Amino acid sequence: MAQRCAICGAEINLLQSQKLADGNYICRKKCKKIGMKSFDYIHATLPLVLDHNQQVEEGTRMFNALFLPRKKAKDRSKKLKSFSAHLFVAPDLGLMALAEFKYKFFIFGKYCDKACVFRTGDLYLYDEEKATVVIDGKMQTDTYMHFGFINTCGLSDFYEKCDSHREVVKYFNQVFGIEKSLKNIGNTWKNQINAVKSSVAAVKAGIAGDADAADKAARMITSLDVMQYGDRTQINQRANYVVAAFRAGQIL
Ligand SMILES: [Zn+2]
Repeated sequence: MAQRCAICGAEINLLQSQKLADGNYICRKKCKKIGMKSFDYIHATLPLVLDHNQQVEEGTRMFNALFLPRKKAKDRSKKLKSFSAHLFVAPDLGLMALAEFKYKFFIFGKYCDKACVFRTGDLYLYDEEKATVVIDGKMQTDTYMHFGFINTCGLSDFYEKCDSHREVVKYFNQVFGIEKSLKNIGNTWKNQINAVKSSVAAVKAGIAGDADAADKAARMITSLDVMQYGDRTQINQRANYVVAAFRAGQIL
Protein backbone atom coordinates (compact mmCIF):
# COMPACT_ATOMS: atom_id res chain seq x y z
CA MET A 1 0.00 0.00 0.00
CA ALA A 2 1.26 3.41 -0.89
CA GLN A 3 2.14 5.82 1.91
CA ARG A 4 2.25 9.57 1.91
CA CYS A 5 5.29 11.58 2.92
CA ALA A 6 4.42 13.34 6.19
CA ILE A 7 6.38 16.41 5.11
CA CYS A 8 5.71 17.06 1.41
CA GLY A 9 2.70 14.80 0.91
CA ALA A 10 4.17 12.87 -2.04
CA GLU A 11 2.86 9.36 -2.57
CA ILE A 12 5.61 6.85 -1.80
CA ASN A 13 6.02 3.08 -1.90
CA LEU A 14 8.03 1.02 0.59
CA LEU A 15 11.38 1.47 -1.15
CA GLN A 16 10.94 5.19 -1.50
CA SER A 17 10.04 5.74 2.14
CA GLN A 18 11.82 6.08 5.46
CA LYS A 19 9.78 4.99 8.47
CA LEU A 20 10.24 7.12 11.58
CA ALA A 21 9.99 6.04 15.22
CA ASP A 22 6.53 7.59 15.61
CA GLY A 23 5.09 5.64 12.65
CA ASN A 24 5.29 8.50 10.16
CA TYR A 25 6.84 8.01 6.75
CA ILE A 26 8.93 10.52 4.83
CA CYS A 27 10.12 10.36 1.23
CA ARG A 28 13.73 9.46 0.54
CA LYS A 29 13.85 11.34 -2.71
CA LYS A 30 13.40 14.84 -1.32
CA CYS A 31 12.66 15.18 2.39
CA LYS A 32 15.21 12.69 3.73
CA LYS A 33 17.89 14.19 1.52
CA ILE A 34 17.66 17.47 3.41
CA GLY A 35 19.17 15.86 6.52
CA MET A 36 22.74 14.96 7.42
CA LYS A 37 24.18 11.48 7.03
CA SER A 38 24.78 11.34 10.77
CA PHE A 39 21.11 11.92 11.62
CA ASP A 40 19.40 8.82 13.00
CA TYR A 41 16.00 8.67 11.22
CA ILE A 42 15.10 5.26 12.64
CA HIS A 43 14.86 6.64 16.17
CA ALA A 44 13.59 10.09 15.25
CA THR A 45 10.04 11.43 15.37
CA LEU A 46 8.53 13.77 12.78
CA PRO A 47 8.95 16.93 14.93
CA LEU A 48 12.63 16.07 15.42
CA VAL A 49 13.10 15.60 11.66
CA LEU A 50 11.47 18.98 11.03
CA ASP A 51 13.76 20.58 13.64
CA HIS A 52 16.75 18.95 11.97
CA ASN A 53 15.74 20.19 8.51
CA GLN A 54 15.50 23.72 9.85
CA GLN A 55 18.84 23.29 11.63
CA VAL A 56 20.50 22.21 8.36
CA GLU A 57 18.92 25.05 6.41
CA GLU A 58 20.32 27.70 8.73
CA GLY A 59 23.50 25.75 9.52
CA THR A 60 24.50 25.49 5.87
CA ARG A 61 24.08 29.23 5.37
CA MET A 62 26.06 29.95 8.53
CA PHE A 63 28.82 27.55 7.57
CA ASN A 64 29.27 29.17 4.19
CA ALA A 65 29.09 32.71 5.56
CA LEU A 66 31.07 32.36 8.79
CA PHE A 67 33.13 29.17 8.79
CA LEU A 68 34.50 28.95 5.25
CA PRO A 69 36.09 32.44 5.28
CA ARG A 70 37.91 31.40 8.48
CA LYS A 71 39.62 28.45 6.81
CA LYS A 72 42.41 30.68 5.60
CA ALA A 73 42.29 33.35 8.30
CA LYS A 74 45.70 34.88 8.98
CA ASP A 75 44.77 35.83 12.52
CA ARG A 76 45.36 32.62 14.51
CA SER A 77 42.56 33.36 16.97
CA LYS A 78 40.12 33.37 14.07
CA LYS A 79 41.47 30.38 12.22
CA LEU A 80 39.14 27.45 11.78
CA LYS A 81 40.18 24.32 13.66
CA SER A 82 39.29 20.95 12.17
CA PHE A 83 39.44 17.51 13.74
CA SER A 84 38.15 15.51 10.79
CA ALA A 85 36.98 16.13 7.26
CA HIS A 86 33.60 17.15 8.68
CA LEU A 87 34.12 18.65 12.11
CA PHE A 88 35.14 22.28 12.53
CA VAL A 89 35.49 24.73 15.39
CA ALA A 90 35.46 28.52 14.96
CA PRO A 91 37.09 29.63 18.24
CA ASP A 92 36.37 33.35 17.87
CA LEU A 93 32.66 32.70 17.18
CA GLY A 94 32.03 30.26 20.01
CA LEU A 95 30.56 27.94 17.41
CA MET A 96 31.37 24.56 15.91
CA ALA A 97 29.97 22.68 12.93
CA LEU A 98 29.46 19.31 11.35
CA ALA A 99 29.57 19.70 7.58
CA GLU A 100 29.17 17.59 4.44
CA PHE A 101 30.81 18.52 1.18
CA LYS A 102 30.15 17.89 -2.49
CA TYR A 103 32.02 18.54 -5.67
CA LYS A 104 30.65 20.62 -8.51
CA PHE A 105 32.55 18.70 -11.15
CA PHE A 106 34.58 15.51 -10.57
CA ILE A 107 37.02 16.50 -7.79
CA PHE A 108 36.89 20.20 -8.55
CA GLY A 109 34.92 22.92 -6.84
CA LYS A 110 34.40 21.34 -3.43
CA TYR A 111 31.60 23.15 -1.59
CA CYS A 112 29.63 22.78 1.59
CA ASP A 113 26.37 21.02 0.82
CA LYS A 114 24.97 20.69 4.35
CA ALA A 115 26.00 21.73 7.83
CA CYS A 116 24.76 21.84 11.38
CA VAL A 117 26.14 24.61 13.55
CA PHE A 118 26.29 24.21 17.33
CA ARG A 119 27.20 26.48 20.23
CA THR A 120 30.53 25.09 21.38
CA GLY A 121 29.45 25.77 24.97
CA ASP A 122 26.63 23.24 24.55
CA LEU A 123 29.09 20.42 23.94
CA TYR A 124 28.89 18.19 27.03
CA LEU A 125 29.98 14.90 25.55
CA TYR A 126 33.19 14.26 23.63
CA ASP A 127 34.22 10.72 24.38
CA GLU A 128 36.07 8.06 22.50
CA GLU A 129 33.73 5.12 21.96
CA LYS A 130 33.71 1.83 20.15
CA ALA A 131 30.31 1.70 18.51
CA THR A 132 28.27 0.27 15.68
CA VAL A 133 26.86 3.22 13.83
CA VAL A 134 24.62 3.53 10.81
CA ILE A 135 26.33 5.93 8.46
CA ASP A 136 24.81 6.56 5.08
CA GLY A 137 22.62 3.48 5.47
CA LYS A 138 25.48 1.11 6.30
CA MET A 139 26.36 -0.44 9.69
CA GLN A 140 29.95 0.25 10.69
CA THR A 141 31.73 -0.86 13.85
CA ASP A 142 34.73 1.22 14.73
CA THR A 143 36.20 3.62 17.25
CA TYR A 144 34.57 7.03 17.02
CA MET A 145 34.36 10.26 18.89
CA HIS A 146 30.89 10.57 20.33
CA PHE A 147 29.69 14.18 20.45
CA GLY A 148 26.63 15.30 22.40
CA PHE A 149 25.12 18.78 22.73
CA ILE A 150 22.58 20.11 25.22
CA ASN A 151 20.03 22.87 24.37
CA THR A 152 20.06 21.76 20.73
CA CYS A 153 17.05 21.14 18.47
CA GLY A 154 17.47 18.55 15.72
CA LEU A 155 20.75 16.66 15.46
CA SER A 156 22.32 16.81 18.92
CA ASP A 157 24.22 13.57 19.12
CA PHE A 158 26.54 12.01 16.55
CA TYR A 159 29.59 9.85 15.98
CA GLU A 160 32.52 11.04 13.95
CA LYS A 161 35.88 9.54 13.04
CA CYS A 162 38.57 12.00 14.07
CA ASP A 163 42.26 12.08 13.31
CA SER A 164 43.31 12.03 16.94
CA HIS A 165 40.85 11.37 19.75
CA ARG A 166 43.29 12.43 22.42
CA GLU A 167 43.81 15.76 20.70
CA VAL A 168 40.06 16.39 20.54
CA VAL A 169 39.60 15.75 24.26
CA LYS A 170 42.62 17.85 25.13
CA TYR A 171 41.43 20.73 22.97
CA PHE A 172 37.91 20.93 24.42
CA ASN A 173 39.11 20.43 27.99
CA GLN A 174 41.30 23.44 27.44
CA VAL A 175 38.51 25.49 25.83
CA PHE A 176 36.25 24.80 28.81
CA GLY A 177 39.02 25.25 31.37
CA ILE A 178 38.93 21.65 32.58
CA GLU A 179 42.60 21.27 33.25
CA LYS A 180 42.64 19.49 36.57
CA SER A 181 43.88 15.96 36.56
CA LEU A 182 41.19 13.34 36.53
CA LYS A 183 42.15 12.16 39.99
CA ASN A 184 41.66 15.64 41.44
CA ILE A 185 38.27 15.95 39.85
CA GLY A 186 37.31 12.56 41.25
CA ASN A 187 38.08 13.60 44.84
CA THR A 188 36.45 17.01 44.65
CA TRP A 189 33.53 15.41 42.90
CA LYS A 190 32.95 12.96 45.77
CA ASN A 191 32.98 15.78 48.33
CA GLN A 192 30.58 17.82 46.29
CA ILE A 193 28.23 14.90 45.76
CA ASN A 194 28.07 14.34 49.49
CA ALA A 195 27.34 18.01 50.04
CA VAL A 196 24.54 17.93 47.50
CA LYS A 197 23.11 14.77 48.98
CA SER A 198 22.92 16.35 52.41
CA SER A 199 21.29 19.48 51.00
CA VAL A 200 18.74 17.50 49.06
CA ALA A 201 18.07 15.42 52.17
CA ALA A 202 17.44 18.63 54.11
CA VAL A 203 14.98 19.78 51.47
CA LYS A 204 13.14 16.47 51.56
CA ALA A 205 13.04 16.44 55.33
CA GLY A 206 10.92 19.57 55.28
CA ILE A 207 13.71 22.07 55.68
CA ALA A 208 13.87 22.37 59.40
CA GLY A 209 15.12 25.87 60.01
CA ASP A 210 16.88 26.30 56.68
CA ALA A 211 14.69 28.18 54.26
CA ASP A 212 17.48 28.47 51.68
CA ALA A 213 18.18 24.76 51.48
CA ALA A 214 16.54 24.32 48.09
CA ASP A 215 18.41 27.30 46.77
CA LYS A 216 21.66 26.00 48.21
CA ALA A 217 21.14 22.59 46.62
CA ALA A 218 20.50 24.21 43.24
CA ARG A 219 23.66 26.28 43.59
CA MET A 220 25.66 23.20 44.50
CA ILE A 221 24.46 21.38 41.43
CA THR A 222 25.49 24.35 39.31
CA SER A 223 28.92 24.41 40.91
CA LEU A 224 29.20 20.68 40.30
CA ASP A 225 28.52 21.29 36.64
CA VAL A 226 31.21 23.95 36.51
CA MET A 227 33.61 21.60 38.26
CA GLN A 228 33.07 18.80 35.82
CA TYR A 229 32.29 20.65 32.62
CA GLY A 230 33.92 24.04 33.05
CA ASP A 231 32.26 27.44 32.94
CA ARG A 232 30.47 27.90 29.62
CA THR A 233 29.03 31.36 30.28
CA GLN A 234 31.44 33.44 28.23
CA ILE A 235 31.71 31.14 25.24
CA ASN A 236 27.91 30.89 25.03
CA GLN A 237 27.52 34.66 25.30
CA ARG A 238 29.82 35.03 22.35
CA ALA A 239 27.93 32.40 20.35
CA ASN A 240 24.58 34.03 21.14
CA TYR A 241 25.88 37.38 19.97
CA VAL A 242 27.20 35.89 16.72
CA VAL A 243 24.01 33.94 15.96
CA ALA A 244 21.80 36.95 16.67
CA ALA A 245 23.99 39.15 14.44
CA PHE A 246 23.91 36.53 11.67
CA ARG A 247 20.12 36.29 11.87
CA ALA A 248 19.89 40.07 11.68
CA GLY A 249 21.93 39.98 8.47
CA GLN A 250 25.12 41.50 9.87
CA ILE A 251 28.48 40.45 8.50
CA LEU A 252 31.00 39.26 11.06
ZN1 LIG B 1 8.70 14.33 1.13
